[in-house]
Amino acid sequence: MDGESKPPDTTGRPRYQRFWLIAPEAGPRARLTASALCAVFAVAGWLLLRDSTPLAAAFCITVSYLCGGARATFAAVENLRRRRPDINFLMVLVAVVSALLGHWEEGAILLFLFSLSDGLERYAIERTRRGISALMELRPDTACLVRDGDEREVTLDELAVGDRVRVRPGERFPVDGEVLEGRSAVDESVLTGEPLPVDKQPGALVFAGTINSNGSLLVGMTKAAGESTLAKIVALVETAQERKIAAQRLIEKWEPPYVLGVLGLSIATMLGWMIATGNIPEAVRTGMVLLVAASPCAVVLASPVAVMAAVMAAVTRGARHGVLFKGGSHLEHLAAIRTFAFDKTGTLTRGRPELQAIDALDGRTPDEVLAVAAALETHSEHPLARSVVAAAAERGLSLPVVTEFNNEAGIGVWGRMDDAWVGAGRAELFRRRRVDLPDAIAAFDEQTDGATTILVARADGLAGVLTLADQIRPEARRQLGIHHMVLLTGDHASVAARVADSLAIDDAQADLLPEQKMAAVHRLSNEHNGVAMVGDGVNDAPALAAATVGVAMGAAGTDVALETADVVLMRDDLRGLPEAVHLARRCQRVIKQSLAFAFGVIAVLVTLTMLGWLQLPLAVVIHEGSTVLVVMNGLRLLREPSAFEADSLS
Ligand code: ADP
Ligand code: MG
Repeated sequence: MDGESKPPDTTGRPRYQRFWLIAPEAGPRARLTASALCAVFAVAGWLLLRDSTPLAAAFCITVSYLCGGARATFAAVENLRRRRPDINFLMVLVAVVSALLGHWEEGAILLFLFSLSDGLERYAIERTRRGISALMELRPDTACLVRDGDEREVTLDELAVGDRVRVRPGERFPVDGEVLEGRSAVDESVLTGEPLPVDKQPGALVFAGTINSNGSLLVGMTKAAGESTLAKIVALVETAQERKIAAQRLIEKWEPPYVLGVLGLSIATMLGWMIATGNIPEAVRTGMVLLVAASPCAVVLASPVAVMAAVMAAVTRGARHGVLFKGGSHLEHLAAIRTFAFDKTGTLTRGRPELQAIDALDGRTPDEVLAVAAALETHSEHPLARSVVAAAAERGLSLPVVTEFNNEAGIGVWGRMDDAWVGAGRAELFRRRRVDLPDAIAAFDEQTDGATTILVARADGLAGVLTLADQIRPEARRQLGIHHMVLLTGDHASVAARVADSLAIDDAQADLLPEQKMAAVHRLSNEHNGVAMVGDGVNDAPALAAATVGVAMGAAGTDVALETADVVLMRDDLRGLPEAVHLARRCQRVIKQSLAFAFGVIAVLVTLTMLGWLQLPLAVVIHEGSTVLVVMNGLRLLREPSAFEADSLS
């Protein structure tokens, strides 16, 4: 309860290390042990007092107070020095004043419960932390290195990029790499949440921590052990958990004034009671009970803890199902967003378009047109490019040499061939170059019947047109539980209309250049109070960055997506989106519940105390009990069923 708001106390650590039971940075075990000792010595002291051995009793009581209150005192002093009166200050104050008034038992009960709830919270937080760093332990510590025909077991730091390692059936991959030999099914569920194994052949990428199921594979290491996708995910989730969300910052800002307010209110009650009844001990007592009951524990301090528990649980949960949130604030935003913009290629469609037709003009053969296009597209990463290259390879075409290659994102590619300019892409590419396109092209767009076209041209005019069609993702047809869907694409209006129709998308905007996509995202965000942009993360980076929340899909293996997006869906599957939205909304609901509950408890306690109906021990029990409940409520998210299993969202 004391450490969340302050930076790690590096100077203090060595000083306190020998006293681990009461050290400010102690883990949950030390905290719970200290709390238990506080109770044991309090009971011992109480028994000894009845036996009228006052000296021994005083010793036990002192030890009890030390065990229960030392850490809170350190933290209180530390925070007072930074002019931040906090809950620890209040608690210690109440305990000491009770003891001085002769009610030492009540002070001990207070310190016991306070330290207990502190230990339990710490335990809860540690559990979510462990949930994620346990991922790292899935990676084996050694690998079977293959060198000069020899195989031997080495530790991971002996390996370098380019080394070849053997991974036998049933083993986990120690590093990220590319399959060189062998075939196998690989269980990638630790990274993507996908329970079905994925088939791997030579050329496929494999990831550290995933399980090789049935074949023996020779893997060429492509990334240093510390830079594997798994390591990146763990690091990402850990920083995500550290970042505070707006609610937490707000509460932290209000903690000191709140504490002072409570102090003032207690003193006022005490004085009022004193004047009204003249009974000074009773007045002090009432004032103190109020102090405890209204002490900001459940709201000002337990709430950041509750919020943190919920956020951490949600982030951890997401990571286990292949949904990475790069910060708690993205959960917050995503929960509130009602408008989702989608990129088309690779997001709503599979991103594996098939070449359906080649129209060759001016007496060229289809193969010539395809060869020119493929020669240009070998340099591009666009899904269309990959399909064109694959089609040319299938026909066994030899590709002409292209120099001065240029890729214009969202428009097309161009370069030089035999000193002549050549390009492949949409009409805009040629308009910019002032290449004459026949008027028929405009009409041609109308006839495409929902298929994508790539124009192939030389400086002197159009050479041909490739027609490609992509499949709409089957899972996209499912209700995504999203109210307002907008399609943003650089493709023709006819393609956009076909996709929008079959997916019941409200609004489709076609023929957008990359900068127009970005402008559209800004406009949607202004009109609808925030927008989430869902894209493949490879060529949509600007639009993802412009959105309130950028969601990248199918990220296993692509670092760009991990870097540009706010939320990353590890598997190449749209179902991760409802999962992310579901988790964000659940998290927000849990936080609201916790806050409402905590405020409710406080309001009731304060009222009862002011009426004089509540005694100190009961106030403390109810109060600290509610804190623990609120934290447990947050952790509930860890066990929630996944949206993949749940039928639909609201
Ligand atoms: P989407 O909005 O569907 O994801 P892009 O914005 O990536 O599509 O591209 C829009 C259009 O630009 C494509 O439909 C295609 O006509 C053209 N284009 C983009 N990249 C290429 C490329 N590498 N080769 C050919 N055409 C391309
Ligand atoms: Mg795209």
